[in-house]
Amino acid sequence: MRIVQICSEAVPFAKTGGLADVAGALSKALADLGHDVTLILPLYSRFIAKCGVDVQPVGEPFEIPLGKQRVLIRLKRTQMPGSSVTVVFVDQPEFFDRDGVYQDPITKADYPDNAERFMAFNRAALEAVARLELKPDVIHAHDWQTGLVMALLEGQFRDWVPDLRRTAAIFTLHNMAFQGAYPSATMPLTGLGWEYFTWTRMECWNRVNLLKAGIVFADQLSTVSPTYSREIQTPEFGHGLDGVLHDRTADLTGILNGIDPQEWSPAADSHLPARYDFDALETGKATCKRTLQERLNLPVRGDVPLLSMVSRMTWQKGFDLIGACASRLLERDVQLVFLGNGQPEYEDLCRHLASAHPHKVRAVVGYDETLSHLIEAGSDMFLMPSKFEPCGLNQMYSMAYGTPPIVRATGGLADSVVGATPETLNDGTATGFVFRDHDPDQFWQQLDWALKLFADQPVWRRLQRAGMSRDWSWNRSAREYVALYEKALTRRVS
Ligand code: ADP
Repeated sequence: MRIVQICSEAVPFAKTGGLADVAGALSKALADLGHDVTLILPLYSRFIAKCGVDVQPVGEPFEIPLGKQRVLIRLKRTQMPGSSVTVVFVDQPEFFDRDGVYQDPITKADYPDNAERFMAFNRAALEAVARLELKPDVIHAHDWQTGLVMALLEGQFRDWVPDLRRTAAIFTLHNMAFQGAYPSATMPLTGLGWEYFTWTRMECWNRVNLLKAGIVFADQLSTVSPTYSREIQTPEFGHGLDGVLHDRTADLTGILNGIDPQEWSPAADSHLPARYDFDALETGKATCKRTLQERLNLPVRGDVPLLSMVSRMTWQKGFDLIGACASRLLERDVQLVFLGNGQPEYEDLCRHLASAHPHKVRAVVGYDETLSHLIEAGSDMFLMPSKFEPCGLNQMYSMAYGTPPIVRATGGLADSVVGATPETLNDGTATGFVFRDHDPDQFWQQLDWALKLFADQPVWRRLQRAGMSRDWSWNRSAREYVALYEKALTRRVS
């Protein structure tokens, strides 16, 4: 199949979260299955310059309309490192030559022209597909940043470009909390007529809603875990679009993400001071723990349970539960490490815990790829008490690194972690700790239970090994995406 992925971020070029991991790894996994994959991204020149890839111009420059303006677009091309994926960049320096992807990294405010930036990117991406004659069987777009692709394809490009008439349009929802909702005055920037600004199309609460455009106009929809695909059809998780999703329930599939073994495998991780696998778990992991403690200036002790969290610091991730359980937890002999950044109140919470417990807690506020790998490897337990979690990657990294996660049963956490109970410990299926409700006492019960089990090292080893021996690779998920593409193509052709 000829597959075009259109996304606003992808590893290794630009990353703000799990979306980038998925776009990069899924593209590579599809190419590994023998498909012809092109990934279209904005050219964030400041990040991409650091990747050491050779980026060359391709095709002629062209202009696209954006409301009353015309915007000059150049296309650039490179090869995804270690893969046959072709990457096409949309080069528009005024929009993408910035220090952040969506936000100013200093003020943490969204760029005020994000509607213009991503609407222009969506049109330019489809122009690139047409001008480079990619003739795709499938166009696969991701999240609000590329939702307009689905509407432009259906409303304009299928008519203009005969090669796109039978192209299957797939849209993946990675997080319903971010919708790209802009004032109605931005509608002319889409290049679509006002007849598209209706409740059945892309209007929601009198705003242009780009996520909704993706949901309404795609042939098939997917989201990143089976549980999340059910959750988002309810008011609690649908963020106002549950009704729209409910109407499309027959076309909505949940496919759990995988992890990229080139990036996230303890046996091959170049960020680690020692590599380890299933068989050499004890020594390698102990070295990583010692290095982590040394690097963070914590007491170097193998016996103390080291709990950690690597996360965007937002309300989604359950930091209120961390705050509610911290004093009980820190009465115990434990160490606690945070890496992340985001909302100031949660950054402050972590900093405060670190200053109040200098021998036990460290808070690294910032973004640090190498440290995130060392934390996964050097910790004993990983915390993810999320309010909601479409898929979540860190719990899978943790299990692959022999670091049982403690998670709330929501979205992909519910689909990937088997909670330790006497039964699951007995039959060897337990891989972590799971609590049901967003409730401090339930979280604390699992923390307490995890600390008890940690004291019984033979039992703990079994738990670690169960997580490490599961197949977390993209191979499985990529095959499920291919089945979804085939389903959409069959419908288009018939
Ligand atoms: P989300 O996409 O909601 O942020 P995921 O668990 O799906 O959550 O993915 C988060 C990704 O971002 C993981 O790869 C995680 O390691 C990484 N990450 C988050 N915060 C940081 C940070 N401060 N430093 C390094 N990596 C981070």
